[in-house]
Amino acid sequence: MLSVNAGELIAARKEGRAVGAFTTYNMETTIALCRAAEAAGSPAVLQLGASAFRHVDLGVLTRLVVDVAAASGASLGVHLDHCRDLAEIQACLDLGCSSVMIDGSHLPFEENVELTRAAVSAGHKAGVWVEGELGAIPGEEDRSVSARPEALFTDPAQAAQFVERTGVDALAVQIGNVHGFSADGGRLDLDLLADIAARVPVPLVLHGASGIEDDVLRAAIHRGVAKINVNAELRRACFGALDETLAPAREDGYHLQRVLNVMRDSVAAAAEDRIRLFAGLPRGGQET
Ligand SMILES: [Zn+2]
Repeated sequence: MLSVNAGELIAARKEGRAVGAFTTYNMETTIALCRAAEAAGSPAVLQLGASAFRHVDLGVLTRLVVDVAAASGASLGVHLDHCRDLAEIQACLDLGCSSVMIDGSHLPFEENVELTRAAVSAGHKAGVWVEGELGAIPGEEDRSVSARPEALFTDPAQAAQFVERTGVDALAVQIGNVHGFSADGGRLDLDLLADIAARVPVPLVLHGASGIEDDVLRAAIHRGVAKINVNAELRRACFGALDETLAPAREDGYHLQRVLNVMRDSVAAAAEDRIRLFAGLPRGGQET
């Protein structure tokens, strides 16, 4: 069911937990993420990367993900990630997305405020929550390339002003996080995060959480992060499983369904582990 609304994120921040948000690309990864949330008994957000629409028709992918998530018994959200285009946001709202992100982080502050305000207005009109970003997060969503955070960390005072002026429901911050795997294991500036959280009342979002140590992620959640985006880590788990499957599946009469099932199951397992970590649930028999 599509029930991850703004209240769910506010509750998560208050309760010291975070909702995992994962990029989905096709039917297998969509089913995988629903199963992961069902198995963990905890909410999750399925994310449509605006970049995916270069490869798959927006309507086809969005309808698929909305339909599969709505039919699941788990509490889920379908979220448009890193969108820079108001027309694309409206298209996804019309197709039933339960939240959207407007990314004006590449723009000068005033232009980011203006673009984000327009997206918030469209989102709230459709009854959904809107995520904005202040401080650019380097790297690419869909490919892990070497990227370094350079200078554009989120300024706490500016963040408070940004949230107040835009009415945004959640704020993506740049505190040392990068998209893809970070070369240094993902050092986060937790003091900066605490400072931002002290001034910004809305739930904070951490992008690029792949490869960051579990204890650091727990500390970030403790300081106000209520949504954590993970993508590269799931892709890596999927590739690892596929490496072991392709040869036997080829010998097994080019058994494509076997490959697709492995894609689904490997993503489900990796996502469930992250959902449990972020929710403070036991993982693999261990208390967190
Ligand atoms: Zn991101």
